[in-house]
Amino acid sequence: MTIRTRFAPSPTGFLHIGGARTALYNWAWTRRHGGVFLLRIEDTDRARSTAASEAAVVDGLRWLGMDWDERLSRQSERGDLHRAAIETLLARDRAYRCVCTPDEIGARKQQFVATGAKWTYDGRCAEANHGPACGPHTVRLRVSKTGRLDWQDLVFGPSGQDAREIGDMVIRRSDGSPLYHLAVVVDDVDMRITHVIRGADHLNNTPFQLALYRALDAPIPQFAHLPLIVGADGRKLSKRRDHVSVQHFREAGYLPEALCTWLVRIGWSHGDQEIFSLAEIRALFSLEATHRSPGHADPQKLDWINQTWIKRLPAERLAAELQPFLAAATDADAAAAAGSDPGLLGLIDLLRERSKTLAEMSERARFFALPDAALAYDPKAVQKHWKPALRTPLAALRDALVALTAWEPAAIEAAFEATLAQHEGLGRGPLAQAVRVAVTGSAASPGIYETLAVLGRERTLVRLERALAAWPAAS
Ligand code: GLU
Repeated sequence: MTIRTRFAPSPTGFLHIGGARTALYNWAWTRRHGGVFLLRIEDTDRARSTAASEAAVVDGLRWLGMDWDERLSRQSERGDLHRAAIETLLARDRAYRCVCTPDEIGARKQQFVATGAKWTYDGRCAEANHGPACGPHTVRLRVSKTGRLDWQDLVFGPSGQDAREIGDMVIRRSDGSPLYHLAVVVDDVDMRITHVIRGADHLNNTPFQLALYRALDAPIPQFAHLPLIVGADGRKLSKRRDHVSVQHFREAGYLPEALCTWLVRIGWSHGDQEIFSLAEIRALFSLEATHRSPGHADPQKLDWINQTWIKRLPAERLAAELQPFLAAATDADAAAAAGSDPGLLGLIDLLRERSKTLAEMSERARFFALPDAALAYDPKAVQKHWKPALRTPLAALRDALVALTAWEPAAIEAAFEATLAQHEGLGRGPLAQAVRVAVTGSAASPGIYETLAVLGRERTLVRLERALAAWPAAS
């Protein structure tokens, strides 16, 4: 048997982290077992399902590193199949037409629940044999009133419900449109899905869907429901309070590796391993080790994971990821120029340890990407560190730097030492700070010798000249 799974998002404008995790578990598990993984867009809600919504899902999955097999399918294009399945169920008397209006049902339900019992449709039309010409009607599935609708969930274990608690649910609305459950089951049958892996919010839907499989005489897939995702505080994730879209995290400078690691660990573990590459996720992920209790989406944990990946990935890769962030912090030309400057890789190595996100890293790399003539000086830093008396030593340092034969941190340090030796009473700190403001515009940067080394001789000297020209005179 070839394993076939699917990720079936309802597009709502963005890829939710819960959906991304469902996709990741499906993808990893299917790839691990050599199966076929499908993407089906459940876009029957036409108002919300725009092309942009679908693109957000597709882009998000691709960015995270997932791929899918066969052609992407859309539920909205499969309406004929859904309608035909309903006709078949009617023809086999496994479904029937119901002419009860919502008002009538509402009134009967009110009386019924007053007795304290749980309402299901009371079966008034079940034996009425209404034909196609009965006027406005819905179609209901005949659900057994005895026995159980049980399944062995691959995560939650034995699960199910008494069939009589379900009732004859509607599968076609009075406007002729098929209900969601019908569409999902018919599509899963048609696509020969062997394993339905989805969020635990669908646990309650499964018994009725089992009844549908039975009525359709279709083989029943295995089900695996994934634990809910809650916030770090244990509360349900809320769109207003929490960041829930993959797009947000991408724009905030999180790496796809970090997001995948974070998501895979919300609901699954492998010993005490915390960091997983996509290849490891694909090799190790198992449904048996998936948890039942809700998983916490802790943003601080994500920061730590992201920083760990920033420390690990090759500088070339980070340079590529950094491009859009640098472009936003400067402009496209400056970012492109920085991208082709070999010094950028050295700068990334200096910034890795201190950056939680690419956005932070680009903020710190901004001085490097800016054209020398466009560097602005932080006025507070200028006031504090550009003392008039430092102008002469700074000019001497410039001369020492010009004379260097090798442009690397040790040689640069030696030029600083020589300048300090020439100027009695001059402290290492004040000189370094004066230079730092001159070449980066601010009082914070990695080690000054390393910073000058990655900036390069030419640019360093241009920036020192520019600073000397702007140096405050003694008042
Ligand atoms: N479209 C459903 C959702 O986005 C998923 C249905 C399923 O996986 O069975 O929640």
